[in-house]
Amino acid sequence: MELNDPTLAHHGGRRKKLAASVAAVLMLCMAAATGVAPRNAYLDPRAPRQQERLHLPDLREQLEKLTDATATYIHEAPMQGGDTIASLLKRLGVDDPDAQEFIRRNAAARNLFNLEPGQVVLAEVDQDNLLVSLRATLDGNVSASRELVIERAGDLDEPAFKAIVRAVRNELRHEMRSGIIAAGGFFRTMDAANVPDEIVRQMLSIFSGVIDFHHDIVAGDRFRIVYEAGFRDGAVVRNGRVVAVELINRTQPYQALWYPADGSHAGAYYTFDGRSMARPFLRSPVEFSRMSSGFGWRNHPLHHRWVQHKGIDFAAPTGARVQATGDGTVDFLGRQTGYGNIVILRHDGGYSTCYAHLSQYAGIRPGQRVTQGQLIGYVGQTGWATGPHLHYELRFHDVPQNPLSVMLMEPETLAGPTRQRFLSYTSDLLSRIAVLRSLDVAAGGNRNLVR
Ligand SMILES: [Zn+2]
Repeated sequence: MELNDPTLAHHGGRRKKLAASVAAVLMLCMAAATGVAPRNAYLDPRAPRQQERLHLPDLREQLEKLTDATATYIHEAPMQGGDTIASLLKRLGVDDPDAQEFIRRNAAARNLFNLEPGQVVLAEVDQDNLLVSLRATLDGNVSASRELVIERAGDLDEPAFKAIVRAVRNELRHEMRSGIIAAGGFFRTMDAANVPDEIVRQMLSIFSGVIDFHHDIVAGDRFRIVYEAGFRDGAVVRNGRVVAVELINRTQPYQALWYPADGSHAGAYYTFDGRSMARPFLRSPVEFSRMSSGFGWRNHPLHHRWVQHKGIDFAAPTGARVQATGDGTVDFLGRQTGYGNIVILRHDGGYSTCYAHLSQYAGIRPGQRVTQGQLIGYVGQTGWATGPHLHYELRFHDVPQNPLSVMLMEPETLAGPTRQRFLSYTSDLLSRIAVLRSLDVAAGGNRNLVR
């Protein structure tokens, strides 16, 4: 009996083999039926046999149905770089030239080859390794995915397939990570703790008004982070938003919770006790840079006399990305004496910001709206500059201010019923952070083997 042995299957032999299998079952029945025949009939193969035909209505058909219904196998394999249709199907245990030909020709099915290496493809095959169905998640957002489904539509004599792309809901989970910043630094620790890059970027953005991740974070600092992730078939399809994060910098805790829109407020990050994290201006217009010269009086490096420095200089290599520190519109873009290539943005409330010595602008035009964090240009040393750096000014009614003091403006705090709603909404997130804190204690270190 080899009804369900997939290892012996060959393409094209399925029908013959099924018939053989059914015949084998019938033989078994006949053997049982002939068991009552005289014993010597078995001892002497040449002896005449008395065979009686069994009449079991529809047995063949029933068996065929049974085999079709039960004997399928699910294989899964990750997409690999350089995969062809043939190599992918082979790894999925599919031996089916008709299916391969269909995928080669069908536009929807060819979506398979837009998958990134590592993305998982599921194949259902029958006992002869012919394709029954194939599924793969193409893309989507955190809550829904586009899924490719290829299914056998015709019968075995005339194999036909259909391919559709459909929207399916993802399973939304809260992923949790925690750890201790290792000597290798913040970014290596995040890698080791398996925190996805896009989640790290969100974390930088959430705390950009208050922490300089390149210079403030020290070994031994702790982090706890909860973020949304959309799952399909047990695998992450898309990472979503950071919903709770706590960072202990030396002894100072920095915390943020995402609180979605509630009518009077748009969704935004708040501290655990309900103070808005939003700042009108980011702390730095250049990611990953250090302040090389502050606001106020200094001996000018080119003119060698004491002048008032009207802004802050950020040391960064030529080509480093310069971002708008606040929402606004492009007021000026061009060359100015001393400043070289400069961008001036106008903001609400009489504020403007200037970004000087740029090597290039980043596809912006005068009058255009820009949002906080948007790329506006690249660091250079045009104008009076001894080396590549960004000169940044923040002006109030065209009078330069110390950007550091403007950034310390008091944020909004939730109050009254809004605060009550905030506290009840965020209690679940806080309990997750509490779980991560207790894991720190239980593990005597951290949970993600970050050391
Ligand atoms: Zn300067």
